[in-house]
Amino acid sequence: MADSKTHPKTIQEPIRQLEVYREAEVVVVGGGPAGVSAAVAAARNGADTVLIERYGHLGGMATGGLVILIPHLSDGTDRLVIAGQQKEWLDRLEPLKGVVKPPPDAIGSSDPKLIERWGSYRFFVVDGRIRLSAYVDPEMLKCVLNDMVVESGVTLCLHSWGCRALMDGNRIIGIAFESKEGRKAVLGQVIIDATGDGDIFASAGADLDATLDPKLRSSKLALVFRVGNINYEKFRAFKGKETQTTSIYETGSEESSYAKLIGELNRLGGFTVTMPTPREDVVWFNNWIPDLSCLKVKDLSQMEVETRKKMLLTHRFYRENVPGFEDSYILDTASQVGTRGSRRLIGEHILTEEELRAGTLYEDTIALFPPLTSNASPEKPNRCIPYRSLVPRNVEGLLVAGRCFSADLVANDILNLIPPCVAMGEAAGTSAALCAKEGVAPREVDYSILRKHLMGQGVPLPEHP
Ligand SMILES: Cc1cc2nc3c(=O)[nH]c(=O)nc-3n(C[C@H](O)[C@H](O)[C@H](O)COP(=O)(O)OP(=O)(O)OC[C@H]3O[C@@H](n4cnc5c(N)ncnc54)[C@H](O)[C@@H]3O)c2cc1C
Repeated sequence: MADSKTHPKTIQEPIRQLEVYREAEVVVVGGGPAGVSAAVAAARNGADTVLIERYGHLGGMATGGLVILIPHLSDGTDRLVIAGQQKEWLDRLEPLKGVVKPPPDAIGSSDPKLIERWGSYRFFVVDGRIRLSAYVDPEMLKCVLNDMVVESGVTLCLHSWGCRALMDGNRIIGIAFESKEGRKAVLGQVIIDATGDGDIFASAGADLDATLDPKLRSSKLALVFRVGNINYEKFRAFKGKETQTTSIYETGSEESSYAKLIGELNRLGGFTVTMPTPREDVVWFNNWIPDLSCLKVKDLSQMEVETRKKMLLTHRFYRENVPGFEDSYILDTASQVGTRGSRRLIGEHILTEEELRAGTLYEDTIALFPPLTSNASPEKPNRCIPYRSLVPRNVEGLLVAGRCFSADLVANDILNLIPPCVAMGEAAGTSAALCAKEGVAPREVDYSILRKHLMGQGVPLPEHP
């Protein structure tokens, strides 16, 4: 376990020249949902693009974090509100049997037979109508994302950790990264920080906010794990009908034996939220670890050790008490710590909860997202994300995509899901390519041209206000 003492002592690192590994038009740091989408969009729009990812695979939380629920691509009608590259993931996963989702002709339906069929997948039915949501196989998704990146011509640098921004005054001109080859530089006209934690914009001196609200989901870490060889039918029969299929928490039928068991496991400190996967014999356990920071080595180390202890307790309890788990085993734990929130950019626009809930339209809207627990209506309209929430106030040449975008705590918490992050990435990458081609700064990009490009890529967007 890491030492808890602080070490004020410092040591001078020798000044050195960095070898320039590559010069490109667009450099994306972080290969999660936002970063992959940004890199693919930039390359498809003609930019020479480099993608830097610290691990050996792409997908971030959606693969390495075992976060395999991709929810809310439609709004209660048969329309998709998130499509573009997010839909492409699902289309490419289908022939690989890497996804479970309702078929296209079921989307928006309130047919009781279809509701019965799809209602047991949490988030597939909202307010009595079927939504396009999906559970994906993380290993297949890694393969799909590799294909998308390689086919679009992105130069992929895996096992490469982006360390810091390289600056010329207030303009970012590249990044330094560490790998087995040592410390090197990649230079670019536009840099996109898609690290989730804002590693690059923090070192560039961009204004940021790193406060977290302990009441919100985004303040909690996790170590997700999967359990294999379960009998799902037996488990489902014991659990009873979920009373609330839009809740992240396990409900079971009220007063059921399962609900009582969950109460007992909660008291013991175990994890009680199971989610389905594309495989009937595998479930994943989501969890929420409070009061630890994803930016501190000590906290991260403590969380890896303590959460595995809780995982063992949880699995033993399920095996001994819950029908369907008798012969189960722990299949795997997430290779990446589950991080929901950390630093947030203070951008040209800080998206607020009020704007989000009101469905405020912007002339630079680059993505839509539906209300989570009700279908879209004039009272509860689809939510809009403005491009300016990806643009730092005080650093040039930089865009930010994904969960560290500029929003207040609640708005960030609401949009901190895979589909909006993919959509932000697609917008940032498209904009970066336009900037590189036209020689303009990210904050000067013509919104109407950017939106036209996005719509051409299958991104659903509203008309201007
Ligand atoms: C336990 C848990 C459950 C969740 N449940 C859901 C859910 O059910 N549905 C849903 O839609 N969302 C869910 N989320 C949220 C979702 O995972 C995030 O919103 C989404 O993954 C954010 O995407 P991103 O690309 O911004 O960041 P990330 O997914 O965190 O990706 C960041 C990428 O950058 C890389 N990286 C980071 N720093 C560096 C660096 N310095 N150099 C190089 N590479 C770097 C990382 O390795 C990673 O690949 C959950 C999150 C957690 C943790």
